[in-house]
Amino acid sequence: MQTTEQREPLQECVEHTGKKTGAVVLAGGQGKRMHSQIQKQYLLLAGCPLICYALEAFEHSCVDRIVLVVGAGEEEYVRREILAPMHLQKVCAVVPGGKERYHSVYEGLKALKGCDYVLIHDGARPLITASMIDRIVEETIEWKACVAGMPVKDTIKIADEAGYAQATPDRSKLWQIQTPQAFSYELVRGAYDCLMQDESLQKGITDDAMVVETCTQQKVKLVAGSYENLKVTTPEDLVLAEALLEHRRAEK
Ligand code: C5P
Repeated sequence: MQTTEQREPLQECVEHTGKKTGAVVLAGGQGKRMHSQIQKQYLLLAGCPLICYALEAFEHSCVDRIVLVVGAGEEEYVRREILAPMHLQKVCAVVPGGKERYHSVYEGLKALKGCDYVLIHDGARPLITASMIDRIVEETIEWKACVAGMPVKDTIKIADEAGYAQATPDRSKLWQIQTPQAFSYELVRGAYDCLMQDESLQKGITDDAMVVETCTQQKVKLVAGSYENLKVTTPEDLVLAEALLEHRRAEK
C-alpha cells in the first residue's frame, strides 16, 4: 500500500525512553450508520480494506506492538484475508471485541499487559499517519494522558427534547475529539478495570478520555490531531477519505 508514509520502524521516541508502547486498533464495531452489507472496516477504500490504512500507519510508527480488535468470530477471516497479505511485523494479537466500544477497548488493553504506554485508535480513521502517531507518543510521555482533537469550525448548539436550540456553548472552547487517545498503561488499565466493575459508570461513555476522567483524578491534555483524521461513519465520509488519500498520493 502506498497511501501512508513509508517510515523506518522504531523511531527516536521509543529509542530514547526505552519504554514499550502498544496500540489498540479497534475494528469491532458494526458500522450500522454506513448502511452497507459489508462491515465498514472491510469496505474497499482506494482499493484496500479500510482497516489496512490505520494498521499500516501504526506499523511504520514508533509503536512496538499492535493489538487488533475485531468482531467476535471474525478473527480467522481477518488473519487470513487482511493481515496475511500485509506482512506486518508488529501485530501481536487479534482479539474479539465486545458489545460496546469500551468492551472492545478493554479486550485490547488486556492483550497489551506489560506495555508502558498505550494508544487507542478507531480503525475507522484511515487517514492517521505514522508521524502523527509518533508526535502523540511524545505528548503522552509528557502528559500521561492525552487525546487528539481539533478546535471545532462550526457553531455547536445544544438541542432541547423538542429539537429547539437551547444553548450555544462558546465555540472558542470546543474541540472535536479524535483518536489516537493515549495514556500511561497503568493509568488507563486501572480506569478501565474500575469501569468494568461498576455498570453505573458505563452510561454515556463514548471515548477513553471519559473513562479516565470518570475513574481517576488525572487531567487529560488535548493535543492537535488533524482535520484530515476523519472517522468514516456515513457513506459520504468514504468519498472524502478517498479524495484525501488521492491528494496525498498526488503530493508525493
Ligand atoms: O461506533 P464508533 O464510530 O464510535 O466506533 C469507533 C470505533 O470503535 C470503530 O473503529 C469501531 O469498529 C470500534 N468499535 C469496536 N467495538 C464496538 C464498537 C465500536 O471495536 N463494540
